[in-house]
Amino acid sequence: MPTFKDRRDAMVEMQIMARGIKEERLLSAFHKIPREKFVPGRYHDLSYEDAPLPIEEGQTISQPYIVALMLDAAKIKPTDRVLEVGTGSGYVCALLSLLATDVYGIEWHQSLASIAAARLEAIGCANAHVMHGDGTLGWPDRAPFDAIIVSAGGPEVPHSLLSQLAIGGRLVIPVGAEQRQQELLLIVRTSQDHYERSSLGKVQFVPLVGSEGWAIDGAPVEPRRAGRPIRIGVRETAKLATLIGESCEPFDSVDKVGLESMLARIGNARIVLLGEATHGTAEFYRLRARITEALVARMGFNIVALEADWPDAAAIDRRVRMLDSMPLREPMFSRFPTWMWRNTQFQCFVDWLERRNRCIDDRSKRTSVHGLDIYSLNNSIGAVLDYLDRVDPSAAERAREMYACFTPWERDPSTYGRAVTVGQLEGCERQALGTLRDLLEQRLRYCKDDGDNFFDAARNATVITEAEKYYRAMYRGARESWNLRDRHMFETLLALLEHRGPDARAVVWAHNSHIGNAAATEMAMHGELNLGQLVREKFGDRAYAIGFGTDRGTVAAATNWDGPMEVKVVRPAHPDSYEHLCHETGKKAFFLPLRKPHSLGMRVALLEPRLERAIGVVYRPDTELVSHYFQATLPGQFDEFVWIDETNAVEAMEIPTAVASPDTLPFGL
Ligand code: SAH
Repeated sequence: MPTFKDRRDAMVEMQIMARGIKEERLLSAFHKIPREKFVPGRYHDLSYEDAPLPIEEGQTISQPYIVALMLDAAKIKPTDRVLEVGTGSGYVCALLSLLATDVYGIEWHQSLASIAAARLEAIGCANAHVMHGDGTLGWPDRAPFDAIIVSAGGPEVPHSLLSQLAIGGRLVIPVGAEQRQQELLLIVRTSQDHYERSSLGKVQFVPLVGSEGWAIDGAPVEPRRAGRPIRIGVRETAKLATLIGESCEPFDSVDKVGLESMLARIGNARIVLLGEATHGTAEFYRLRARITEALVARMGFNIVALEADWPDAAAIDRRVRMLDSMPLREPMFSRFPTWMWRNTQFQCFVDWLERRNRCIDDRSKRTSVHGLDIYSLNNSIGAVLDYLDRVDPSAAERAREMYACFTPWERDPSTYGRAVTVGQLEGCERQALGTLRDLLEQRLRYCKDDGDNFFDAARNATVITEAEKYYRAMYRGARESWNLRDRHMFETLLALLEHRGPDARAVVWAHNSHIGNAAATEMAMHGELNLGQLVREKFGDRAYAIGFGTDRGTVAAATNWDGPMEVKVVRPAHPDSYEHLCHETGKKAFFLPLRKPHSLGMRVALLEPRLERAIGVVYRPDTELVSHYFQATLPGQFDEFVWIDETNAVEAMEIPTAVASPDTLPFGL
């Protein structure tokens, strides 16, 4: 029967050295510390297994190799003072006590802290000190530390720990947006304000709880974000504004700024999401147009997907791809808010796309334009019926009967939802689904001649089924209908990528609140998700989300839903907002990379949740704080942020009064 010593030696050789760790002092420490003394009695026999083991309080003692990896990366020197957060069994502190001058361990659970302290004393580690407390706040009295080892996984890097790192100090910490899946990070403080970060690979640690970690015991597991009001002192604002100023890429003009560095950051992303902080700012449209033009012309993007209605955007698509036009029941973009797409800035982009596509003979390579939204019940019904009239008149008759169910509600579908919800009406769900199913069943037959037209009809039939659900959900609450709408946008985007084939790359234009990751905003607390979150979950690093913000100026918006467009003055941003920080940089405009920041310290500092402003189609400056601000964590929301300090309203174009005929479509002719 091998002794513990034999097993320990074998562990060092097979589990640690064999995986490439060679540092003599480190290996010697592993040879000396008896791991069995740190493992609960019933697991003694397993002490030298290549695995983590359960300890008291539902925690674990880490796998020996992972400990070795962390300590190796932290490059502990004999003169170092080291902090370990999440002392647990005490094993890591014991190893550290042989490697460094002084070791400070913090453990969340009182009982574990006491057991660990007793064990360390028993084996004679006199230079190891264990305290019960919240290690995400560090141990300020004993700071700075030459190295900090965090043995539990947090949602983000605790700011306190960064600030308690000596210059030249190393922090090793598992960080991940999910509780049990993290990336092991090595962060080196290279100067007062600069930190360099590298990844040591994927790991699984128990959660790091506490005020700069995950929420505690039973509380919903969310990274710290909303909830408490945030006050930022003037000094703090100035400091953060300086950090932003130092790590942004300033520019003078939306029309001239070079996009090379942004394109390099976008790299091989399949999906680029371009946001906007309002639905009526000219500069946001112009810059999104420029970025999109570069993505199309230089990087092969071939789908432009808009927060617009499917049939309306399809009319634009037909124009820019030079396909036959189709009549619409209601003139394109004639529904509130008309200025969102019926504006000269967007028109310029459409003109550009048409010119560009004209130069491309192979039709399948032309860039297409689509709408992701759900509000087009009437036009979508018209489009499906028109399509069927052309390809299958008897199916058209059946569909016409089915869709007749919607006739009383087509112009004002929100009343449909109420009537069904209060039980006045049976509803048209069966009819909508039935027609979609009939259409899909005929896919092969209909697709023979023209896949594009079939796809368009199938998407319209899908919009009808989803809109039907949406208008009913509206009466059950904002969350359900919001989620349904954003899921629909996501499904539509996936359908587009599939339709355009494996090389397809898409640019999405939608409000920040749709494209920024909802999980990093207070939306998550209300159970809301969004397009940006779903895209990020599916595409990971191959999605790149760019948020847009502004401090002041003018904006096109209405005072009430369905009200007329007005040009309103945008108030300077709230002092507790991200926008205020950006404004305080004193720069007119800039790009701020957040996924690959120019300074990690800036990114970390911005992780602290703050207010952010969202102006939609309605803007009410007098109640701005309650109606337009929400809490968010900017670097969690976006991969990059575009700042334009002062902005102007879009130039809206006239709305046609009569139903447009095909030859006056698309707009502006
Ligand atoms: N190094 C330890 C790992 C224990 S597991 C070992 O190998 O035994 C991680 C430990 O982190 C748990 O004991 C958990 O209670 C502790 N922990 C989690 N959040 C903490 C926090 N904010 N401060 C201190 N300890 C924390």
